[in-house]
Amino acid sequence: MAMRRCEYGAGAMRILLDCDGVLADFVGGLLELINRECGTSYRRDDITEFDIGKSLGWSDAMRAKVDDLVRGEPGMILGLAQEPGARVGFGILEQLAGDIYVVTSPWPGHQTWAYERTQWLWRHFAIPSNHVVHTAAKHLVMGDVLVDDKTSTLESWRREFPSGLAVQWQTPHNMRDAWYGASTRDWDELVEMCRKHMADMERNLCR
Ligand SMILES: [Mg+2]
Repeated sequence: MAMRRCEYGAGAMRILLDCDGVLADFVGGLLELINRECGTSYRRDDITEFDIGKSLGWSDAMRAKVDDLVRGEPGMILGLAQEPGARVGFGILEQLAGDIYVVTSPWPGHQTWAYERTQWLWRHFAIPSNHVVHTAAKHLVMGDVLVDDKTSTLESWRREFPSGLAVQWQTPHNMRDAWYGASTRDWDELVEMCRKHMADMERNLCR
């Protein structure tokens, strides 16, 4: 599929940013909730796969309990901490790209998720609600760059937009994934990747 624009340049770049794992510390918030309510003592290092339940060896009953806990905890999403370095990093990215959208997948059945997430992004990053897309179908969202910590999401987006740049945001839970594309957890490096990608696109268009 062709890219959407004929003219390029940093100002024209549209970057799609995931929220959980990139901007918001969802895993930290989730483990805190579970440890408090279930008397467990899970640590972040225990999460070595994107599927947290699989990582921790949960039974179906435990998965259902966690699902109930998350859906029954209004305010949890609003109370999440920022990922370390995200505020400064986002500021650097904002200087480069004129068009940043957060594309974030809601927890199924959570009644206040989208509201809390939108509020949170405004409070922490001053991202307006018309730049937040709530969907699990991220491959439907067009952009020049997608930054996400879920490898399968990157794969499906890259299939849809092969000339786009899919960047895996490195976390302990995706380190074991097979991914043969761009990967970082350094905001400066991300900016350089985006800059280079746009320069390459521009060069190709000028040929
Ligand atoms: Mg994520």
